[in-house]
Amino acid sequence: MTGPRRAFLLDAARLTAAATAGLGFTASASAGTSAAGPAYPFSLGVASGSPLPDAVILWTRILHDPLNAASTPALALTVRWEVAEDDAFRKLVRKGSAVAAPALAHSVHVDATGLRPDRDYWYRFMLGDAVSPVGRTRTAPAPDAMPSMLRLAVASCQHWEFGHYAAHRHIAQAAPDLVAFLGDYIYEWGPYQLRHPPRAVRVDESFTLAQYRARYAQYKSDPDLQAAHRAAPWIVTWDDHEVANDYAGDVDERLAADFATRRAAAYQAFYEHMPLRLPVPKAGFGELRMHQRYDWGRLARFHVLDDRQHRSPLACPKPGRGGSNVVLARACEALRDPQRSMLGGAQEAWLAQGLSSSKARWNILAQQTLMAQSSGVPVQSPEDGRFWTDGWDGYPAARRRLLDTVAKSGARNPLVLSGDVHTFYAAELRRDFNRPVSKANPVIAAEFCGTSITSSSRAQARTQENVDRNPHILYGRSDRRGYMLLELTPQAVQARFMALDEVREPGTKQSMLAAFAVEDGSPAVLHRQKG
Ligand code: FE
Ligand code: CA
Repeated sequence: MTGPRRAFLLDAARLTAAATAGLGFTASASAGTSAAGPAYPFSLGVASGSPLPDAVILWTRILHDPLNAASTPALALTVRWEVAEDDAFRKLVRKGSAVAAPALAHSVHVDATGLRPDRDYWYRFMLGDAVSPVGRTRTAPAPDAMPSMLRLAVASCQHWEFGHYAAHRHIAQAAPDLVAFLGDYIYEWGPYQLRHPPRAVRVDESFTLAQYRARYAQYKSDPDLQAAHRAAPWIVTWDDHEVANDYAGDVDERLAADFATRRAAAYQAFYEHMPLRLPVPKAGFGELRMHQRYDWGRLARFHVLDDRQHRSPLACPKPGRGGSNVVLARACEALRDPQRSMLGGAQEAWLAQGLSSSKARWNILAQQTLMAQSSGVPVQSPEDGRFWTDGWDGYPAARRRLLDTVAKSGARNPLVLSGDVHTFYAAELRRDFNRPVSKANPVIAAEFCGTSITSSSRAQARTQENVDRNPHILYGRSDRRGYMLLELTPQAVQARFMALDEVREPGTKQSMLAAFAVEDGSPAVLHRQKG
């Protein structure tokens, strides 16, 4: 795919569509009156997330012009909010007000508590006379309930310049109970440009808080993305591009001395734009607790992981660089270092505790990148293989430790969900991928990896070669963009790989490429429909 599909500057039609998505559009004279006249303050829509049985986070950000941070005055604004049992707001159940402060980009995070479990709610915000679009959200079931089904959409990787957010329109139409977003919500750079032909370089890279905020505002101006947020609560984690390509802990690919400052700016912008239940860190955004746990009654426990902030530096980078590399295992000693970690010690211990204490039928590891080993050459011996170092293949000892933890915990039906690699995969995870499945080397968990909402990938022929070389990977499709729709019941998980016809067409249709199932009591991936 070449060239940007959409300009950085939004065209008038899209802006109008975003603005009129709001119900009861009225200008507010008290905020954002400019030479061009008063503007709608909810240009980025609304969102909800982090659902508990009695509470959900409601989000908005006051911004009158998505492309101009100065369009909203640098004053604290009081925003009112309402939660109702119906979309006409006849049965109001909660209301209140919150301050949208310039220090947090006028973002609003309301923890709407006192709600009843396992219910749809509708919410909206008001500023002056302006009323936000209405969002639908849902509380988690009561802790001891066994719901008959959870419908979950899984998405990741939405580089603006690679296509339209049609996948989000389809997610909104599917009206799932919950959306899990697994990272690369923004990309830190804009379009590629042929500045030094034939080499394409990244332009408009974000380094400062103002730049990251501008990028979120650009992405969130999209009406289809806003619709997916209005359709269901989201649980979110991040990957690298919310900050910088291939970063690991406090090291980026440039080995920049001031990377900690950049990372803190990016973490703050992420917090400001996501429906996260997190206290504003008193010491600033140098660190941000991202791993989280959500229970959907006794049906599912989501262990939401952060495999970026706490990971060890990448193994065997190119000389003088950080960032990823593709290496032969036998030539990279660091791959065998048991000290290296993907999650960090504290998160590993937290995960072990969350797994061993889980009463859930399904234990979902919602995390960033492909966990199944994916060697670029046939693996003849345990020391063998050629690996991309940014994924779990760059942390094989940590992966083995995690799979051991999962197996030892006794947690029922572990299931790994992944993003990052812009490819649909279905795989079976085992402790040692280089040895056949046996009593001593059983399949421990199934893995489903979603493709990207827009971000480009490699040719399908190369992906098929990888599937053929790695027998634990049962399916791979890199030539289609889209998302996954999962139906979890007490008996089984059904995963449908939903693919767009053409990501460059805003009105593109979708179709199901393939469907897989995992049944209670066995991690084997069952192929239900061949794509
Ligand atoms: Fe990505
Ligand atoms: Ca990534």
